[in-house]
Amino acid sequence: MIWYPYEQMKAMKSPYKIVDAQGVYLYTENQKLIDSVSSWWSVIHGYKHPALNQAIETQLKRFAHVMLGGLTHEPAQRLADKLQGWLPGDLDYCFFSDSGSVAVEVALKMALQYYMNRKETQRTMTLALTHAYHGDTFKAMEAGDDEDYHFIQKAYGESKNVIHIPTEIAALEKAFAKYHDLLNCFIAEPLLQGAGGMRMYDIVFLKRARELCDQYGVLLVFDEVATGFGRTGNRFVADLVLPDILVLGKALTGGYIGHAATIANRKVFEGFYDDNPAHAFMHGPTFMGNALACSVALRSIELFEEQDYMSKIHRIEEITRREMKGFSDRRIKEIRIIGACVCMEVYDSGTIKGYQQFAYEQGVFSRPFLNYLYAMVPYVIQEEELVKVLDTMKKWFAN
Ligand SMILES: *Cc1c(COP(=O)(O)O)cnc(C)c1O
Repeated sequence: MIWYPYEQMKAMKSPYKIVDAQGVYLYTENQKLIDSVSSWWSVIHGYKHPALNQAIETQLKRFAHVMLGGLTHEPAQRLADKLQGWLPGDLDYCFFSDSGSVAVEVALKMALQYYMNRKETQRTMTLALTHAYHGDTFKAMEAGDDEDYHFIQKAYGESKNVIHIPTEIAALEKAFAKYHDLLNCFIAEPLLQGAGGMRMYDIVFLKRARELCDQYGVLLVFDEVATGFGRTGNRFVADLVLPDILVLGKALTGGYIGHAATIANRKVFEGFYDDNPAHAFMHGPTFMGNALACSVALRSIELFEEQDYMSKIHRIEEITRREMKGFSDRRIKEIRIIGACVCMEVYDSGTIKGYQQFAYEQGVFSRPFLNYLYAMVPYVIQEEELVKVLDTMKKWFAN
């Protein structure tokens, strides 16, 4: 049987069985649902997109996969070239992997080894944010700050290698003052902390982080697995503040195939590029650079550009702000909006219990968690469909 994610299997209600999917819609045997989650924030172009299907079908006729160890191929090369031209600054060196968590592992390992290669062996620590989420693998969990994983601290004790701070400049300055010579990197989900509760914070914090990283020679890592490809209303937050290492995943392939990338700048790459074989980056996921994934990712980026997705995202934000204006309820603590993400935080998680089934009956798929009722819709959503998603959220509180 299937062991489902994030569920007490004994108490789990049976999941909705999807038999077809097209555009923003998921189909069960007897219901049509607008997917307000975009399959964990990845399906930005909607389902069964003709151009994306075509990209995979074309590549499939050549080959589905060959390893990148000792081999290379056009889809991986073209995607790396595309990202090099498309991403800001000198984020030019693209390391592929098969999921966001692994791409975060790669980034953290790269940051550590960068300083080991330079013989700055005291720099073993990572600075991270409270409420951070960086994935479910062990180092990613350690950098993250999810209560669900605090059993790991109980098992192993508090981490000596990661420090967590809130998104406050005073805390940032204090951490750098105290730990700067021990830090190899500061990792953050920029502007929007997703799985930690759709928490939004100001760009000023990241600008200050960039300054402090420069001042103390610490690498700045942006985990844009969730925020990348427009979600915050910026193409990448890296367009506003340039990190040394950028992590992409989720929407990279338009939600078609699990794939991710850890992209380093020249300085980081050059920290590995020399005559010492021990300075090489020793990492290589089996399915890195998968040809189907790279083909569909490339086409996804082309669509994003050709069809001016940033204006679609700005329109989603505009409609969301308009529809949420003046709406409040005594059970709602805050309504937060950034780009194509809206979140209602309630005081008591019991308030949104039963929402998923209510939304299902209205024709919307939603997956609230803890105290957070949110929508992160596919960017191709039409105005009336978006209004329906938002109305469904509001209607729940009329109960
Ligand atoms: C989802 C997510 C990850 C993990 O990606 P997976 O592909 O699920 O391993 C890492 N970082 C952030 C910010 C995420 O939202």
